[in-house]
Amino acid sequence: MAHFCLFDSYVLLSNIYASTNRWEDAGKVRSMMATRGITKVPGMSVIELKGVLNQFVAGDQSHPESKDIYLKLLEVSERLKVEAGYCPDIKQVSLDVEEEDKEQMLSVHSEKLAIAFGLLHTGLGATIRIIKNLRVCRDCHHLMKLISKFYCREIVMRDRNRFHIFKDGTCSCIDYW
Ligand code: ZN
Ligand code: ZN
Repeated sequence: MAHFCLFDSYVLLSNIYASTNRWEDAGKVRSMMATRGITKVPGMSVIELKGVLNQFVAGDQSHPESKDIYLKLLEVSERLKVEAGYCPDIKQVSLDVEEEDKEQMLSVHSEKLAIAFGLLHTGLGATIRIIKNLRVCRDCHHLMKLISKFYCREIVMRDRNRFHIFKDGTCSCIDYW
């Protein structure tokens, strides 16, 4: 929290309103940001595979394998709901949308697209490396832990704050990041 930029402050304020269902106030903060030119830094993840860097932004549909990636993500999410009781954490999403859409929005954070792509192209026991420009959200962090266990991968993720090494259902940060 030490390096708190203006953008973070606005987003935090907007999130506080949204988490208490004050959608109108959350919306006002967002439009204030827009008129003052405080723009959001898009979430972006990079995954290296066989020497090639693949980049994803939140909600990205531009990758040539986009369709397979989203199908994989759906499969992962459904499997983990059944086998691990995974429940997307919708409190992380702050915009004025219906519950279903919130879940949808969460499912397309850039690191989720990167991990789905990584799963498509690696086998059991492989290590997947992802770099994220922002701090990983709680939902994505939780999902990475589950994937490391149920899909038998080691996931090394560098987010804005630190390294996370996900292995067998736990993370090296012990959930403090
Ligand atoms: Zn996330
Ligand atoms: Zn972690």
